[in-house]
Amino acid sequence: MKIELDQKFAEQYHKNADAIYFSPGRVNLIGEHIDYNGGLVMPCAITLGTWIAIAPNNDQKYRFKSLNFDGDKEVESNRLHEKDGSYWANYPIGVINEFIKDGKEINGFDFLYFGNIPIGSGLSSSASIEIATAFALNDYLNLGYDKLELVKLAKRVENEFIGLNSGIMDQFAVAFGERNKAIVLDCETLKYKMVDVDLGKYVLAIINTNKPRELADSKYNERVAECQQALSVLNEEITLHHLCELNAEKFALHSHLITDDTVLKRATHVVKENDRVHLAAKALNSGSLDEFGRLMYASHQSLKELYEVSGEELDAVVSFCLGYDHVIGARMTGAGFGGCAIALLEKGFEEDFAKHLTDYYVDKIGYPAAIYVSEIGSGPVKL
Ligand code: ADP
Ligand code: MG
Repeated sequence: MKIELDQKFAEQYHKNADAIYFSPGRVNLIGEHIDYNGGLVMPCAITLGTWIAIAPNNDQKYRFKSLNFDGDKEVESNRLHEKDGSYWANYPIGVINEFIKDGKEINGFDFLYFGNIPIGSGLSSSASIEIATAFALNDYLNLGYDKLELVKLAKRVENEFIGLNSGIMDQFAVAFGERNKAIVLDCETLKYKMVDVDLGKYVLAIINTNKPRELADSKYNERVAECQQALSVLNEEITLHHLCELNAEKFALHSHLITDDTVLKRATHVVKENDRVHLAAKALNSGSLDEFGRLMYASHQSLKELYEVSGEELDAVVSFCLGYDHVIGARMTGAGFGGCAIALLEKGFEEDFAKHLTDYYVDKIGYPAAIYVSEIGSGPVKL
């Protein structure tokens, strides 16, 4: 990829790239809809990602090109603060803006991007392009930021410049990911632990349902409100800041206070899913992938039945996996209602899995899913 991007850069800019960097996408292995409830998530970086080739120029302009998107963008460096509709280059522009707001001097640059993360399907191609840009400029210009500062900067871009009210997990996972390690992260305190993941004879299959995540935003807000409702009812009896301060056992002592069935289902998911993250970390530490796989299936079941954020497309993928001998665990990942599912698939069965899943999925849903094979990859690197 480095050589190809080098060549493309030379074709497009009629000069050589000065440096090439890579930044991964991410999946959340387990711990879904937990980040805003004070619990733990367990994301990892994947081997799909975004490559960026850069070279400085002397004409005080930033030029942005992407092999994934038509339309190049050229901005005078003094016009940078302006957002340009929903144009893709807003992501890198937002990053440069943040550096400049911080008092850093960033003169003209030519950028070329290429990504192999399916875009807009919940694998965080947006955090990947943000961190790729931030990491590259920080390294190239010796700006002196540490990784956490870059994560926070990229999150500000997503929240304030792009205007998406997302949490910190995506940028954190992309920046802190390490090969064959999962990150057990408390999104509020940002305390985290790296857990070794030995996938052994398995790979991470990522299945994009190709269903747009239309409902995700409104339903997301609804779920946040339902969790708050559960919390305020529980607070009549005990003092809690977050639902995840309770484990399932303690929750059972107080759950009678929640009289609304829907709210009870939501809170039950949150508490048990958070417990599952602890169990999943234990399973990985003891090398029990089978147990990890069972927890993935249980997580999906709970997201489907209790949290009600799955959907027939994600459910179709997971039901196929349940009946397929060479998968030991699968679940939806991300906010739900579309986007991607992940599965632990035995190596050597990639083609067979793709063929049979495709037949099954097309028959049920009417159009194909896209299937990717990934490993647990590293965070951003200079190539
Ligand atoms: P997700 O993060 O789930 O992939 P988003 O809608 O948050 O979806 O972000 C996708 C957007 O990020 C794209 O529409 C595009 O604007 C930008 N983007 C991601 N990867 C690239 C790339 N390789 N080249 C240009 N823009 C990209
Ligand atoms: Mg995104």
